[in-house]
This record gives sequence, structure tokens and C-alpha cells, in this order.
Amino acid sequence: MKIGVVGMGAAGLRTMMLLREAGHEVQGFEARDRVGGRLKTIRTETGFYEAGGEWIDADHHRLLALLKELGQEPVPDSQYPGAVFMAGKRYTEDEYEEHAEALEKVEEEADKLALDLDEVPWHNSLYANLDGQTLGDWLDAQAGKASIPRRILESVYRSDEGDDTHEIGLLGWLCGRLAALDRTGGEMSSMRFPDGAQGFCEAMVERAGPIMFGAALQQVTFENNQIGLFFGKEEVRWFDQVVLALPAGCLRDIAFEPGISEAKQEAFEAARMSRTIKIAMHFDEKFWEGSPRTLTDSALQQVWAAQLSPLPSLGGAGGGLNTEADPHAINPPPTPPNLGRGVSLLAYLGGERAIELALMGEEEAGKALLEELEQIHPGAKAHYKGATLHDWVHDDFSHGGFFSLPPGYVLDHYGALVRSENGLHFAGDFGGSWIGTIEGALESAERVAEEIKRAANVH
Ligand SMILES: Cc1cc2nc3c(=O)[nH]c(=O)nc-3n(C[C@H](O)[C@H](O)[C@H](O)COP(=O)(O)OP(=O)(O)OC[C@H]3O[C@@H](n4cnc5c(N)ncnc54)[C@H](O)[C@@H]3O)c2cc1C
Repeated sequence: MKIGVVGMGAAGLRTMMLLREAGHEVQGFEARDRVGGRLKTIRTETGFYEAGGEWIDADHHRLLALLKELGQEPVPDSQYPGAVFMAGKRYTEDEYEEHAEALEKVEEEADKLALDLDEVPWHNSLYANLDGQTLGDWLDAQAGKASIPRRILESVYRSDEGDDTHEIGLLGWLCGRLAALDRTGGEMSSMRFPDGAQGFCEAMVERAGPIMFGAALQQVTFENNQIGLFFGKEEVRWFDQVVLALPAGCLRDIAFEPGISEAKQEAFEAARMSRTIKIAMHFDEKFWEGSPRTLTDSALQQVWAAQLSPLPSLGGAGGGLNTEADPHAINPPPTPPNLGRGVSLLAYLGGERAIELALMGEEEAGKALLEELEQIHPGAKAHYKGATLHDWVHDDFSHGGFFSLPPGYVLDHYGALVRSENGLHFAGDFGGSWIGTIEGALESAERVAEEIKRAANVH
């Protein structure tokens, strides 16, 4: 069975690995000149930082097992608790504790709602009321519109969801919460990648199979039980089964001839990606005391420190690997910006404010954030060297930070988005229970590999 996999992020690479292990002939395609997709590591002289996905939760067991298999030991690196600033005021731990009861009450209510759901509530119309609401409306009702607990909840959940909570459907959020119900605390963002998140993907390349870079899928055709992929140049390439491991927001860019079901096309059209960006702020030396992690309800939103350990050069987008099988493969070496020596802080921003900053451009956005950072960590200005904007929202091959379920999406579209059709399978961070995470992308790869194994048995 000949299988094409399009999109060489974590989901596509893991799919290729699993299919190859099962003995299938697999060919990968990627629009960019590198693997990793929304995992992108920027190397500096003193270490590296992540422009995209970065943190590993302690209960992301697939990811942890895969790292072990690849010989990569995750680095424990929590930056909690850090400082909290709400309504312009710094909260000490004691002051934060004053609100702990109100925050816990909301968490408990959310857990109760999540526990009441069926395990897979995608088609249950009894949930229409939950699906019609936004997370923001529900939080307003629980904690009051302008209270300090509500501001804290906005900051925390905006960070989880990558967007303002008034954009997030309540039912989708609750479905995502189901995966994490067993948490006892401390699992979240507790580890990072030893060789950078992209290094994790590069390690997968070795076991994945041949990859053609610079191949942006434009059109999919179906003929005589075969699926044709057209990349805008040369001939159509034919496969028995195809996995589209693209961000959900990119699926609507593909033309399907003669067509896929109406329900699927509607699911593509309505799919939403979070408005999430990162702005790396560079300094000539460390000027802060303790953990620089900061959570605010203002422009800065959330800041933490980049990794510092030196990273050996990994030498190539796909490491120069697996390209022999395809003479058209392009695989140029990466060109990291020369950031010189120093340290970087990463501002992780979501929602409307993230878009405003992205549109300002990196110089102005960096200056705007620096003003605020100076108030929080005096001394920042004296050491500032500049900023680098990583805008995933205006990127043609991501269209946003991660998959996000808008109101109404769960019941109206989610089932159609994920299911396979005519030998086409769909993987990505939208296609598992850990929605919008690396773990979810790996989970979806396992699902499509199983789908294809079943299809192979039928053939
Ligand atoms: C700023 C930011 C911070 C994040 N932080 C975390 C975190 O701390 N922890 C966590 O678990 N997750 C985090 N995430 C989410 C995580 O990065 C993603 O969920 C995960 O990397 C998605 O993997 P994927 O394979 O589904 O998609 P992608 O990585 O996007 O891979 C899809 C691939 O398809 C390619 N492609 C797109 N269109 C085409 C086309 N037409 N033809 C060919 N190829 C195409 C893309 O170039 C890309 O390589 C973060 C994301 C962002 C943006």
C-alpha cells in the first residue's frame, strides 16, 4: 500500500514513523523547507528558544515515551509560580491566596460540568446549550465580569487556549478538560525539550521515510480508488491512502476535486485557529531575580525565560536525511539569526491584543512590551537589545497558534472534521483528546495509523 503524508509537523512525522514500522511505503510532503511546523527552535550563541510549542506536561505520556525512544531526556524546568500582576498591582503569594477560594470554586464547577459529559460528546444534542455559550460568558457568570478572580481566570485560560475566552466555545473547552481531569497539580508545563522542540522532530525524521520539502499541497483528486496530490508543479502524485496532517485552519485552502462531503467542507470552513504569537525579547545579560515568569492582565500577558544550555548545530532542515529517494527534495540548511550572546525572555500572547502587537511589527511591539516589563522587572530597559516577532497567525502554513473550538463547533462540525473519507485521513492537534497540544498531534497520528491498518486489511 502506497501512502502519502502531507504536513511534516509532529503529527505527520509520527504518522510516517508508525506506518513505516507497520511495513508500508510512505512518502512525506512539506510546504516549508524544514520539519517541525509549529515546533520551531531558534538557536542563539548561548542556547536556544522556542518560537512555537515548548512545554511538556508531566501527563503527556505519549510524548514522554517517544522522547525516551528517541534517546532524548526531557528537561524539568518549571518557572512557576513567578509574579502575578492584575489591574496594575503586584500580587504577593498571600494576596493571591485571598482569591484562591473563588478560583477553586470555578475550577470545581468546570470539573463537575466536564464529568457530566459523555466520554465522546460530539453528537449529543443535549449539550446544545453548552455548545452555544462561550467560555468567557460562563466565566463572567461564575466570577463576575470585572472581579480580580475573573481577571486571573482570563489570563490563565487565555494562556491555555491561546485566545480571549469570549472566542472559545464552552463545550469544546470542557471536552479538552476531560483529558486532564486526573491532574493533581504540577503536571502543567513542567518539562522542556533537551535539543529544542524542532530537534525532537528532526530525530523523528530519521525513522519517518523520504520527505519532499517546498511541496505546498494545492489540490486533491480521486480516481479509480487512488488519491492524487497536486503541489502546483509537475505531475499529480498518486497514492492508495493519504494522510493530511495540516493545521485545521489550512484545510480550507486545499481544493478537493471532484469533492469531499459537504459536511467536511463546512467543517474546514468553520475551523478556527487561536490567535497566538510569541515575541522573543533579547537582553545582553540576565537582569532579573528568581523566576522571571510573569502573568498579567495587560499587554505583556505572560513571560518566561528561554532555555540557556548550548545546543549543538543540528545541520539542516531535515538533517540532510531521507532525501535521496526523491530527486526533487529540497533541504537547505537553516539560517538562524545572529542574536549574539545574551539571554531571551519569551512573551507568549493570545487574542485581540496579540493581533494588535503583531500588526505593529517587531520593533514597535518589542518597545511596547519593554515599557511594561520595566515596571515589573526594573533594569530591563538598560539591557534590552531588540525583539523577534514569531507571528503564527499571519503565517500561510499555520493560520494561527493551535486548533480552537469556537461556539457551536463541537456538535455541528467536529465529527465531520476528524473522520476519514475516501481514503483520506486527518491528523493534527485537532484530532485527539489533548486538543491544541503536541500530545494531541501524536495521539491523532496513532488514530490515523490504526485507520490505515484497517483499510489495508480490507484491501
Ligand atoms: C506559540 C505557540 C506556543 C505553543 N505552546 C505549546 C506548548 O507549550 N506545549 C504544547 O504541547 N503545544 C504547544 N503549542 C501547540 C503545538 O505547537 C501544536 O499543537 C503542534 O506542534 C501541532 O502539530 P501538528 O503536526 O498538528 O501541526 P504543525 O506543526 O502545524 O504541522 C503541520 C505542517 O503542515 C505544513 N503545511 C501546512 N499547509 C501545507 C500545505 N498546503 N502543503 C504541505 N504542507 C503544509 C506546515 O508547514 C507544517 O509543517 C504551541 C503552539 C504555538 C503556535
